[in-house]
Amino acid sequence: MVTNLQARDAATVLHPYSNLATLPRQGSLILERGEGVFVYDVDGKPYLEGMAGLWCNALGHGREELVEAAAEQMRKLPFAHLFTGKSHDPAIALAEKLKELSPMKAAKVFFCNSGSEANDTQVKLVWYVNNALGRPQKKKIISRIKAYHGVTVASASLTGLPNNHIDFDLPIPGVRHAGCPHHYRFAEAGESEEAFATRLAAELDALIEAEGPETVAAFIAEPVMGAGGVIVPPETYYPKIQAVLEKHDVMLIADEVICGFGRLGEWFGSTALKMKPDTISIAKQLSSAYAPIAGVIIPDWIDEALTRQSEKIGVFGHGFTYSGHPVAAAVAVRTLEIYERENILAHVNGIIPAFQARLKALGDHPLVGEARGTGLVGAVELVADKTTKRSFDAKRAIAAKAVGFAQDEGLIVRAIGDAVSVCPPLVITAAEIDLLFDRLTAALDRTEAWAT
Ligand code: PLP
Repeated sequence: MVTNLQARDAATVLHPYSNLATLPRQGSLILERGEGVFVYDVDGKPYLEGMAGLWCNALGHGREELVEAAAEQMRKLPFAHLFTGKSHDPAIALAEKLKELSPMKAAKVFFCNSGSEANDTQVKLVWYVNNALGRPQKKKIISRIKAYHGVTVASASLTGLPNNHIDFDLPIPGVRHAGCPHHYRFAEAGESEEAFATRLAAELDALIEAEGPETVAAFIAEPVMGAGGVIVPPETYYPKIQAVLEKHDVMLIADEVICGFGRLGEWFGSTALKMKPDTISIAKQLSSAYAPIAGVIIPDWIDEALTRQSEKIGVFGHGFTYSGHPVAAAVAVRTLEIYERENILAHVNGIIPAFQARLKALGDHPLVGEARGTGLVGAVELVADKTTKRSFDAKRAIAAKAVGFAQDEGLIVRAIGDAVSVCPPLVITAAEIDLLFDRLTAALDRTEAWAT
């Protein structure tokens, strides 16, 4: 039975990532407020937020200090921009802090509002910089199958998921997709993780050779793929990939939109997974999602090339009205202060073992083919046959069914294909982790009963 509010919602709001045909019949889950790791719907029912919103709300809800940071900045200077030689203190303070935290030697930070804008900016910087360096043919960007880099035209092209391309006339030319480092699904029979990583690196090498190394500019990767189904690569994957990139003078763009700011127990996922990026995209946990803000961290050599090119042209012709919005920047500065003051990395590292133990234990569930994860993020892949890894008929939408049962149980998780993903707020406690997995187990039991 759809409520009046759900009917108004379906009649007026065009919903991202939803089945627009079935949503009006099902009705949206309409949330009203949040406290800590819980959110409450309009009827007052609590849900444990097992996805931290969309992999972003690290500090949970109800952080008065962040509300205050926003209010203070709104009173003082609610808007100022960074165009045409203007600036403001929150943007400067945030860029300084990010330079300090960056896992690579950073020169500057370009601010924007979303992960998609950050990755679109990365594409434009690659093109602009290679023109500046006098190698205008070096422009192609290699992403990976199942990667998620956003939905704007260039970012969606980098994304390696069919639903982001079909009927959107994407990808744009100049984007290629290399193999996905998911051992469970893509390894050959008997192939070890190590041998799989070696093969993927060799395939990347062959792809670059086939394209012509002089035409390939960059490789983009999330340390751990998120929206492609939480895919943790083999341990030696990045060092092997990095060697191929160095051989062909191809830069590495780390998309830290999910992994950045503690998700894997380090400030950046690049450090955790032994990546040595040239540039980094950041968003989401940068402000704990209390305000939309994102950025691209660049090294000296890119900064120098951009400077030279803009001197030649007369301007660096890129920027968003809300690049470094002072309210969002002030919230981000305060978020990073809280992470440091509360030693969020120590907290995350303290609870990772409990989180991973409960996650991996789900591997014994009759429906679960693989329970995978690292840090404070994971997924269970549901299969019809554990031995053969046979998937359910896609029409049964098995993971969506499990997510529906979880919602009944008071838990928000997300279906990605046949996987159910979990990515709780970083501040989750051990007791809340138990509650999360108790509810998820109950949901999987109900899904099994439904499916068989
Ligand atoms: N990159 C990664 C790794 C993401 O997970 C996302 C969003 O989930 C994006 C980019 C796009 O970010 P946004 O939705 O803020 O545009």
